[in-house]
Amino acid sequence: MSIADEIARLKKSKNAVILAHNYQRPEVQDVADFVGDSLELSMKAAATGCDVIVFCGVDFMAETAKILNPDKTVLVPDPDAGCPLSEQLLPRDVERQKAATPEASVVLYINTTAACKALADVVCTSANCVEVIRAAPSRQIIFGPDSNLLHYASKRVPEKELIGVPVFGYCPTHHNITPAQVSEAKTLHPGAKVIVHPECTPEVQEMADFIASTSGMVRIAKADPAQEFILGTESGLLHRLGRDVPGKKFYAASPAVVCPNMKKNTLEKVRDVLVNENHEIVLPGGVIEKARVPIERMLELTRKWKKY
Ligand code: SF4
Repeated sequence: MSIADEIARLKKSKNAVILAHNYQRPEVQDVADFVGDSLELSMKAAATGCDVIVFCGVDFMAETAKILNPDKTVLVPDPDAGCPLSEQLLPRDVERQKAATPEASVVLYINTTAACKALADVVCTSANCVEVIRAAPSRQIIFGPDSNLLHYASKRVPEKELIGVPVFGYCPTHHNITPAQVSEAKTLHPGAKVIVHPECTPEVQEMADFIASTSGMVRIAKADPAQEFILGTESGLLHRLGRDVPGKKFYAASPAVVCPNMKKNTLEKVRDVLVNENHEIVLPGGVIEKARVPIERMLELTRKWKKY
């Protein structure tokens, strides 16, 4: 029996659902019930009727699933799959900034620990950050941890003053995509349009035809008449695009755009976690209660705008 067949059998017998981020390995995406970006996976996690959620992504995503499903078992294939961006923001950074600017709303990127989310007024993803920030009641907004996403949002919501926590947070995978790499890709593929993630640097954002979340990229690739695209995001998305948008061509801005944490989850580890039911996400009840409020606020706003 293949590992994929074993996973299918285990999933059925344990009433489990497998959620996978767009950056997962192709073979992991292929056994998932749903593949998407952080926002879509949050929506799926909130709606699932299964007893067990196997979350193939990084730790903050699985924590979000647990916060939205406190009575369900949430498992991760590899407990060491963390997010270096989320680790750059500590609860004390948020508390310090809240004390300095008490009138400011706290809007945190979903790429944060549960303990930080518990201090936020509302959470956002790269797919909805502009709308979430615009809807915040205050002019000043405490925002973190990604400074490139802050730049992207600031340009689109100039009426708000965004205060970064930390001052310079970044995703190493996206921040390392350089303008020279994008230029080279454009020279190699002159007919291709460039789509980049808002976690890329402002210089790379300037070179793009579109800036979008990963699922936004899929939508653009389907709808735009262009037949070729250069992608400034983690290479795992190429698999989903090849499957969902057949006939069009996709190129990575650089072959080195890989998040090593996202790649820690393998097919064998997905099977093993279903067999052993170990690597469970456990969070203190108080944190779950507090962090649930800003996540639900985002989901509520998003449903209203139908941005999913
Ligand atoms: Fe974190 Fe960046 Fe990896 Fe996403 S791609 S999990 S933001 S380090």
